[in-house]
Formats: sequence, C-alpha cells, structure tokens
Amino acid sequence: LHKEDLEGQLLRDAMTGLYNHTAFYAFLEKFTVKNTSEEKIALAVLDIDNFKKVNDTYGHGKGDEVIVFLAKVLQERCGEEHYVCRYGGEEFAVIFRGIGRKEALKEMEWILEKFRKHRFEWTTEPITFSCGISEYASGLMTDKELFSITDKILYRAKENGKNRCLL
Ligand code: GH3
Ligand code: MG
Ligand code: MG
Repeated sequence: LHKEDLEGQLLRDAMTGLYNHTAFYAFLEKFTVKNTSEEKIALAVLDIDNFKKVNDTYGHGKGDEVIVFLAKVLQERCGEEHYVCRYGGEEFAVIFRGIGRKEALKEMEWILEKFRKHRFEWTTEPITFSCGISEYASGLMTDKELFSITDKILYRAKENGKNRCLL
C-alpha cells in the first residue's frame, strides 16, 4: 500500500468510488472562493426519492445497488473534468467546471432520464431523484452559501412532487 493510494482513498467513498464528503467540501472551496480564474462553476445537489421505502420494501442491499448504479450514471456522464461526489448516504453532488447553471440543468435532466428509465430486476417501479442546481456568483457568495442555496432548491424540487431538476 502506497502513501498516495491511502491519500486517494481518504477522498473517495469506498462503496461507489466517488469523491466523499471531505473531498466535496474541499473541492467546493477550491473551485469557488479560492478560484482566481474566470471559470464558471455550477453546482447540482441530488437526493434519491422515497429511498427509505426502497430499503424497507426490498432490503438494504438493493438500496445499495441503487446508490452504486446512480453513481455509475453520474460518473459516466460527467467524467473527470467535473467532480462527482457522494456527500451523504443517498445524497450526491456534482461540481460542474466551465459551464453555467442552464447547461448543468440539461446534464442533470439527461442523468435523471437515464436513471428513471433503468429497470432493476427486483422491481418494476422506476426509481427517481430530485435535484437542485445553481451557479457560483464570484465575490457575491461563499462556498457554504452556494451549497445552502442549492440545497434549498433541492428541497423545493422535493416539495414540488420530486422526480425533477430545478434551477
Ligand atoms: P425523500 O424523497 O424525501 O428524500 O425521502 P427518503 O425516503 O429518500 O428520505 P431520506 O432522504 O431522508 O432518506 C434517506 C434514507 O437513505 C435513510 C437511510 O436509511 C437511507 N440510506 C442512507 N445511506 C444509505 C446507504 O448507504 N445504503 C442504503 N441502502 N440506504 C441508505
Ligand atoms: Mg436524503
Ligand atoms: Mg431521499
């Protein structure tokens, strides 16, 4: 085991391979308040809908399968130029670099469509997520404010019936 591997693992979530909670907050700061370039930054935060019911009905293992599948869809679409994170149990975030909120919305809608269309072999019901998206306004907000604004938009998406991405 090399030191670099260990350090890499400290930033990754073991179950999905995505960036973890620690990495998410560090990257958010790095690409917003500590960013001296003119690069646009958009943030998407998402939470799987009615996930407690998935666990209760089909078991925790099937719930994990859903998390791993969503992670794969996110990572395949966003690649390495954007930062895909699992910052909570069934809560994910993408830090989009070089694109604004409208373009980020299109990306997240593509991902939601792909995720919703997938049929797991143990249920015929689609599984969905809700997503809030906003962009960093340089000098006008901190990284924490960007996250809290975006999280509020996510909660509006939940209140508006879930299964949607909102700006
Ligand atoms: P909502 O649509 O409002 O988000 O409803 P919800 O049922 O998804 O509610 P909430 O987001 O609060 O529930 C999160 C659930 O996710 C509770 C917790 O048991 C489950 N969970 C968190 N982490 C994991 C995990 O790693 N694996 C599995 N299987 N379940 C997890
Ligand atoms: Mg949640
Ligand atoms: Mg949820």
